[in-house]
Amino acid sequence: MDTRRRTLLAAVAGLLGAGRRAQAQDAHADARARLVREVEAGFRDTAGETGRARMSPCVRQALERVQRHRFVPPSLVDSAYVDRPLPIGMGQTISQPFIVALMTELADPAPDARVLEVGTGSGYQAAVLAECVAKVYTIEIVAPLGERARALLAELGYRNVDVRIGDGYKGWPEAAPFDAIVVTAAPDHVPQPLVDQLKPGGRMVIPVGQQAGVQQLLLITKGADGRATMRRTIAVRFVPLTRER
Ligand code: SAH
Repeated sequence: MDTRRRTLLAAVAGLLGAGRRAQAQDAHADARARLVREVEAGFRDTAGETGRARMSPCVRQALERVQRHRFVPPSLVDSAYVDRPLPIGMGQTISQPFIVALMTELADPAPDARVLEVGTGSGYQAAVLAECVAKVYTIEIVAPLGERARALLAELGYRNVDVRIGDGYKGWPEAAPFDAIVVTAAPDHVPQPLVDQLKPGGRMVIPVGQQAGVQQLLLITKGADGRATMRRTIAVRFVPLTRER
C-alpha cells in the first residue's frame, strides 16, 4: 500500500471512530460480555431500590467497549472483569462495574450532555460516561492518579474528557452548569457548590454518609424551578471525599 492510500485509510478510520470501536475486539471481549450479564443481574436484583430494572443501550455498550483491564494495575488484569472494586494505588480504588453502570444510569445524561465527575481515580467511570455523552469534566485530588488517568484516556482516544487536578468539593465553576454530576468519593453532606453547578432539570448521583463505612447513594434532581429533591437508592461503600489542606 502506498503512503497516500494509507493516509487516506487512516483518515477514514479516524472519521468513523474505528480506533475506539476496535477496542471491543480485544482478547477480553468475552470476559466483558460475561461482566455485562452479571451487571444486568445486579440491576434486576436492586430495581426495587434504584427504580432501574435494566441498563439503557448506551450504558450497556459502554461496558462492552471500555477496556477495564487498562484501568487496573498490571498485576490485577486477570480480575479486571470480575464485578468488584479493585485497588489502584495511593489508597484508592476503581469502582465496581455495577456501581459505575448504576451511577451512569441514574445520572441519565442525554447524548449532548456535559457531565462533571468528582473523583477521577483510574478514569474508568469517566470513560464510561464519555461513551454516552458529549463532554466529561473530571476532577481528581491525588495528582499522580489524575495525571495517569489523563494520559490513559488520551491514549485510548477519549477526546471529550478534560481531567483537572484539584478539590472536586468546589466543582468546576468555569465549566458549569452541568446536565449531570457523578460523585465517586463520599462526603458526609451534599456539597452546596455542586448543587449550585447543576442545571435546572439536572441530576446528581452522590454517595453520602459516614466516611469510614457505608453510605447511601443519593439521586438529587434539580427541578426547572431550581429546587433540589433527593431520593435514596442503595447502600454503597466509597472512599472518603477528602479536602485540600
Ligand atoms: N471514579 C473512579 C473511582 C475513584 S475512587 C474510577 O472510575 O476509578 C475515588 C477517587 O476520588 C479517588 O481517586 C480519590 O483520590 C478521589 N477524591 C477524593 N476526594 C476528592 C476530592 N475532594 N476531589 C477530587 N477527587 C477526590
